Amino acid sequence: MTTFDPSVLAESISAETGLGFVGSDGRSADGVRWLEVVPAGHPLGQTFAIRAEIGWRRIDVRFRLGSFAGDLLASTRSADETGRRVFQTVLDACQKAGAGVALIVNGTIRNHRDDAVWEDPWRSFGFVVGKGMLAINEGNDTADMRLIEEWATRATAAVIALLPVEEEARGLPEGAKLRIEVNRYERDRRNRTAALAIHGHKCMACGTDMAERYGAAAEGLIEVHHTIPVSEVGPGYIIDPGTDLIPLCPDCHSVAHRRSPPYSVKELRNMLRPNLPA
Ligand SMILES: [Zn+2]
Ligand SMILES: [Zn+2]
Repeated sequence: MTTFDPSVLAESISAETGLGFVGSDGRSADGVRWLEVVPAGHPLGQTFAIRAEIGWRRIDVRFRLGSFAGDLLASTRSADETGRRVFQTVLDACQKAGAGVALIVNGTIRNHRDDAVWEDPWRSFGFVVGKGMLAINEGNDTADMRLIEEWATRATAAVIALLPVEEEARGLPEGAKLRIEVNRYERDRRNRTAALAIHGHKCMACGTDMAERYGAAAEGLIEVHHTIPVSEVGPGYIIDPGTDLIPLCPDCHSVAHRRSPPYSVKELRNMLRPNLPA
């Protein structure tokens, strides 16, 4: 019998999104164990919940709004273009990773790619991301928790793209903050959160996972790099966190920016190839 600590999940999602979450857990009437996170410091009915149900070889992550979250429902539907695009892109990435995605608007299942979803008045809104065929509940608690975090973080990244969240620059070391290009795209934390939810935390050039190398002190330490130089995109350009933003470790990120325009991931990999074990 495995035990998962909901506060660990809450901490990890808080670190990813910059929003404070608290966790709880329980079991549904049919015996399915769940972990849930909700934004800290708000009455439950007025906010939202992300619940990961851990079934037999599957995880289903459900987003639902509280019963008295009318304001939140209205602001979610009127999310800006960036928010809607990030929401769709993260859910696309979930599908590409083999999950089923169902948007439920006014009690009806809708396609998250259907722009008409945003036109109708909403009485209710929720979604489910379900991934089956998982090696879960087979006795490895650490691996199980990693899967739960991965899928819950993706769902949360989709959600917060739609929310009127105040931007925070937490979670980055000072040096990284200084080096990162200052522009309105990078400043939008939703994009960073979505990019990491899609690509994970390993450097895309050298494959380093900072937490694996340094341990807990480096948990969550990764930088997000624009593949398209800021000077080449117009003011109306809406960034795609799936293709335009990639995770790089601090070393690779520094090297990438030793040239303008920056070195591509392919070029970085070529530089590293002679040094990598065969
Ligand atoms: Zn690297
Ligand atoms: Zn960069």
